[in-house]
Amino acid sequence: LKLTFTPVLRASREAVGLILVLQDVTEEEKLDRQRKEFVANVSHELRTPLTTIKSYLEALDEGGAMEEPELASRFLRVTRQEAERMTRLIHDLLQLSKLDSEKVRFHKQPLRLEELLEDAADRFSFQCRQKDIAFSLSIRKPLPRVYADRDQIDRVLDNLLSNAVKYTPEGQSVSLSAHRRSDGYVEVVVSDKGIGIPKKDLDRIFERFYRVDKARSRSMGGTGLGLAIAREIVQAHGGTIRMDSRYGEGTTVRFTLPPCEPEVNPA
Ligand code: ADP
Repeated sequence: LKLTFTPVLRASREAVGLILVLQDVTEEEKLDRQRKEFVANVSHELRTPLTTIKSYLEALDEGGAMEEPELASRFLRVTRQEAERMTRLIHDLLQLSKLDSEKVRFHKQPLRLEELLEDAADRFSFQCRQKDIAFSLSIRKPLPRVYADRDQIDRVLDNLLSNAVKYTPEGQSVSLSAHRRSDGYVEVVVSDKGIGIPKKDLDRIFERFYRVDKARSRSMGGTGLGLAIAREIVQAHGGTIRMDSRYGEGTTVRFTLPPCEPEVNPA
């Protein structure tokens, strides 16, 4: 709480009263703290790959790694990967900042999700095969049409499915499914039998840059922004997103989208 005093003065400057203002600044301070944390995180996230790139380039330049072709090509590969991660990070940051300032123009239109889900399943079943992960798609048809931006929903699916594949070891499974809920909303479910998330981390998992294991996420090429972006997009469509997980057993993310047209009552 913030307390301010303002004296009430007569023209003769004689004090005749006092105005007390008691202000609740909890929310303001929270936002301010989040803003500061975000800037610190961004700086750190950009500095880390830059430091790696710099030290590998120095090793090539001064350390004689150039004379060993195998070592040199490994150093260059790491350098390129880090540069690519920086590009992804900046792309994600720009996307989030556009979503924050409501500058993203959503091209919403009546959409059948079936095709979108089938395309995503094609892309990811290929990735899964390479990693020996079983992939399944199940759609309980018919799904009501949703009013949505195709590219943005694709982005949500990509983020969730790539996490599922990233955090699931070989020999396990990933599934994608969709159905109409009793309230008419379409629910899309991405589920995996991967490493899972400890209970204590679940509440904060949609926060920007929040990661269970920073080193692991980085080594997988993650930016720590995928879930935050997914949530912004889903909410901008009037839907909700939530995650359930058991550490060591697997993770399920569900998001909903409102149906495009009001339900026609068959009665
Ligand atoms: P990242 O780029 O690090 O994957 P995300 O915002 O997509 O960032 O996810 C945030 C964190 O949530 C990840 O670093 C990881 O710790 C955890 N996470 C997300 N999806 C899964 C999943 N399917 N299984 C296990 N952990 C997950």
